Amino acid sequence: MDDCIFCKIVSGAIPAAIIYENDYVVAIDDIHPAAKVHALIITKTHYCNILELDPGDAGALRGIHQAVREITRIKGVSESGFRVISNCGGDGGQSVPHLHYHVLGGQKLGDKIL
Ligand code: AMP
Ligand code: ZN
Repeated sequence: MDDCIFCKIVSGAIPAAIIYENDYVVAIDDIHPAAKVHALIITKTHYCNILELDPGDAGALRGIHQAVREITRIKGVSESGFRVISNCGGDGGQSVPHLHYHVLGGQKLGDKIL
């Protein structure tokens, strides 16, 4: 999508420090971190939200979960604990309409985060 900021990050049109990448996703640090560790897993395909991703797409689901595994290892939070969030729509507080997952950790997370 031409005017989508995350599509531009995926294509390289907007430079970003990629912390992890596989065939299905790229991961970057969130520009406004809500915790000491706050990474974003962004799908390479433009889906508006989690409901647009075909639950039968085993490759994409594997790619997303592989990214969680690797990012938490890279960031050193796989043992201490972390949270994965995908906001969806208005009530969900989604501000960028391109599927992404927040990976938060590095500190005790409260109830009100994101
Ligand atoms: P959400 O509100 O769940 O849609 O999350 C969107 C997230 O993207 C927010 O936490 C923003 O801080 C983050 N964000 C927006 N633009 C950028 C960017 N250029 N680089 C990194 N993070 C971004
Ligand atoms: Zn997009």
